[in-house]
Amino acid sequence: MTKFCGGGVPLQAKNRSQGTPCRPRDTEGRAAWEMNRAGRRNLSAYTESETNMLPQKQILVVEDNLLNREMLCEILSQQYSVLEAANGQEALDLLREFGEDVALILLDVMMPVMDGYTFLDRLKADPELSPIPVIVMTQSDSEADEIAALSHGATDFVPKPYRPGVILHRVASIINLRETAAMINLFQYDHLTGLYSKEFFYRKVQQRLLEDPEGEYCIVCSNIENFKFVNDAFGTKAGDELLREVANITQQMIGEDGFCSRFTADRFLCFQRRDREAKDRANFGSFSGLMLSPMLRSVVMRWGIYEITDRTVPVEQMCDRAMLAVNSIKGQYNQFFSLYDEHMRNRLLREQFITDEMEKALAEKQFLVYLQPKYSVSEDRLVGAEALVRWVHPTQGFMSPGEFIPLFEKNGFITRLDQYMWERVCELLHEWKQKGYPMLPVSVNVSRADVYRADLIETLTRITKKYGIEPELLHLEITESAYTDNPNQIISTVDQLRELGFVIEMDDFGSGYSSLNMLNQMKLDILKLDMKFIQTETAKPMDQGILRFIVSLARWMNLGVVAEGVETREQLDRLREIGCDYVQGYFFSRPLPCEDYEQMLRELPADAARPVQRRRDNASGLQTLLLVDEDAASRAEIASGLEDQYQVLEADSASEALVQICEREQSISVILLSMTLPENGAQKLLTALRKDPVAWRTPVLATAPFDAQLEEQALNLDADDFACKPHTMRSLKKRLSRLLGWDAFQKRERRLQEEACRDYLTGLYNRRGLTTAMSGLRQEDLPLALYLFDLDGLKEINDRLGHDAGDQMLCAFATLLQKRLREVDVLARYGGDEFVVILRHMNTRETALKKGREICEAFRACALPGGCHASCSVGIALCGADEKPDEQLIRHADEALYRAKAEDRGGCCIWDDWDAAGTD
Ligand code: C2E
Ligand code: CA
Ligand code: CA
Repeated sequence: MTKFCGGGVPLQAKNRSQGTPCRPRDTEGRAAWEMNRAGRRNLSAYTESETNMLPQKQILVVEDNLLNREMLCEILSQQYSVLEAANGQEALDLLREFGEDVALILLDVMMPVMDGYTFLDRLKADPELSPIPVIVMTQSDSEADEIAALSHGATDFVPKPYRPGVILHRVASIINLRETAAMINLFQYDHLTGLYSKEFFYRKVQQRLLEDPEGEYCIVCSNIENFKFVNDAFGTKAGDELLREVANITQQMIGEDGFCSRFTADRFLCFQRRDREAKDRANFGSFSGLMLSPMLRSVVMRWGIYEITDRTVPVEQMCDRAMLAVNSIKGQYNQFFSLYDEHMRNRLLREQFITDEMEKALAEKQFLVYLQPKYSVSEDRLVGAEALVRWVHPTQGFMSPGEFIPLFEKNGFITRLDQYMWERVCELLHEWKQKGYPMLPVSVNVSRADVYRADLIETLTRITKKYGIEPELLHLEITESAYTDNPNQIISTVDQLRELGFVIEMDDFGSGYSSLNMLNQMKLDILKLDMKFIQTETAKPMDQGILRFIVSLARWMNLGVVAEGVETREQLDRLREIGCDYVQGYFFSRPLPCEDYEQMLRELPADAARPVQRRRDNASGLQTLLLVDEDAASRAEIASGLEDQYQVLEADSASEALVQICEREQSISVILLSMTLPENGAQKLLTALRKDPVAWRTPVLATAPFDAQLEEQALNLDADDFACKPHTMRSLKKRLSRLLGWDAFQKRERRLQEEACRDYLTGLYNRRGLTTAMSGLRQEDLPLALYLFDLDGLKEINDRLGHDAGDQMLCAFATLLQKRLREVDVLARYGGDEFVVILRHMNTRETALKKGREICEAFRACALPGGCHASCSVGIALCGADEKPDEQLIRHADEALYRAKAEDRGGCCIWDDWDAAGTD
């Protein structure tokens, strides 16, 4: 028999095999009981105020003797709600249903069906029920009963007969005790990992700092970088497992003296002695290698460290600082820990300040438009300007975009600022129109975030319409990096914008890795070469570097080319020589306040408005061929033979040809030139062409009836090829297409790509080249060893002897690698002073280590400038024939490198699971 009684809502009396349900003993409970009798309702059917009356504490009385039970109920129901069961089995059934709400059990020993001890055994075996305290009701004076009860796990016992005062007192104190313990538990520990809760951690830290005023401590905040990925990819169960594992390892790592806590979902806090933490740092890199489950070994952990120097800082803030430190290296390969310092603090405060101020600044028009003029190279005239934002803050004064733009890009405010700038620029253009100034275009910056907004096109159209500005006057500078994220979307956006008349410039070209192929797919108007690119490329000898190639490629695709960041006359001369169209830079002018730029506009001649050209797609989509021939019949024949492939323009003399070339500027793709023009016209034309910065790249195919002297002359004047008259159309077409053709383009692209894969200093692969080489190795199924070398002292050499000396050291190491390794090995400069080497057919640890040591020793023997001592360390990771070399391999080598450096292993260490450390 199971019954419910007591002061609350009846939680369904069930299995009433005999007797009537026990009536509640207080008025409230009785009312509810009456209600229940009238028609059963389950809990959800009660109103909120009714459920609010639910007593929190329930007591389960297990007693077969009805009289005893009634008596107990009578005593208890003054303060508790009571559930009743007539034997152990019924009690278990009830607990399965209401176990969570039961605060205590009063248990008789002798009962039919299931006695008290059996019940106790079952209860204790169930992890969910076992914490419920049990008071066993023993026969008076039976010491054996008492011992038996306690040994079965009872919390306490009360002897029969029952004395209400004693029972109430025992029950109250046990419930109290248990609840306090549960509270403490709840408060102290994170339920998933068993680590301290955040709040308790704070308290412990505070306490320790008070107890040990001299101790040097730090707070470390760790972060599992790809936790979200684990959760998404493997499910939350795997995520939980990962957290527990990380908790365990963290706990082991910090040792007895420190303690840790789970801070937020995937962040942990440790409190440690500083010397202990310093030791641990060596382990940070290899932390994920300690994970038990292999799936989790790819997890990346990072640590931020706050050294407690100022104890007046609240503990919460100390933890926040450790967290900021770890946030600052998020996503940075190779950086596993970061120390919080004043510099970081200042930067963060500054960022916070900017974030706090930005809205107000926009509303108060603190952002100003500055304009930096652009010039045409060939004619030395103003062709337009780029709008650059300046923030003039009421207390901070002038702020550089370099400081706030990256932050706005992160926090999304950039789209608001950009729209503001576009609108200001259109407003300016409108004003200039009103004032009758020459209308030169202004380019505005369009950030990545703008490009992916669905309303970009609508916004730009709205703004230009509002100010009555032709879209041609607004050039849009879209940064190169935006093109790589989602090429399809950006291609379609750019197409639509061009359709509407906007002129598209690809900004910062050469700063990233945009594919040349994509340039070909996408219709742009102008390539804007990145400042850094200009500055490094113009410093190279003329015949090296890829600037010339890029410019001719742009020409080939009918794109205009703007070089930015031109600072010197030499750079300008070089750019002119190469055939760049437009320039922008300090050599001409810094960005100017609007008034100053307007002054320039006022000083221009009235016909100055010949702005930056947009790409000319001729209607036919065919390339244009200029046919220069004195013989009309020959012209007619050639023109009709080529018209299916070219748009043919004709000229019968050198002067006519020059007019055409000047008018068309860059749209002529190829010139077919008769060497027998009257008055040495061909020779004069070729000479002029080769001097003209705009036209010199246009390929020229010279023609004449067979004449060795003419042929020689043409080639000496830099014609690209010579074809004898009379022509067969087939051979003429072939020659032309070879001059223009894709094979040439592709050959050049291949060379360019090859160059883009090389480190400019050492000639070894760069990171990009390494990635490509590794994907090649993945096809080969060979055992490999990957070495990650780290040279010591580059920074000191740079600081002490200058960057040339530093470069010499890097080159010395590269040369050494080239000498000691085979052609088939992969050699790469991985970063500043790090090199990656991959050796094929390497399958034993011994040989791999030997080779590593050999290189380190050879490097130590190298003579460096300024008598510097050369040394390096290396981490090695092996990759079996059945494995594929990937990023993980580099990570392993990196972990080994950490060990090699930290643990005094003679600078050489091979990766292992670290269960058995493999060292030399
Ligand atoms: P950017 O678009 O590449 O702009 C060119 C930057 O180079 C400008 O810096 C310009 O002042 C600077 N510069 C121009 N000529 C020279 C030179 O000869 N030598 C050197 N060393 N620098 C030169 P600024 O104005 O500081 O702007 C920096 C970056 O901030 C810009 O790079 C652009 O990415 C961003 N930015 C500026 N204004 C805006 C804006 O309104 N919207 C967005 N989205 N970004 C902006
Ligand atoms: Ca720009
Ligand atoms: Ca730029």
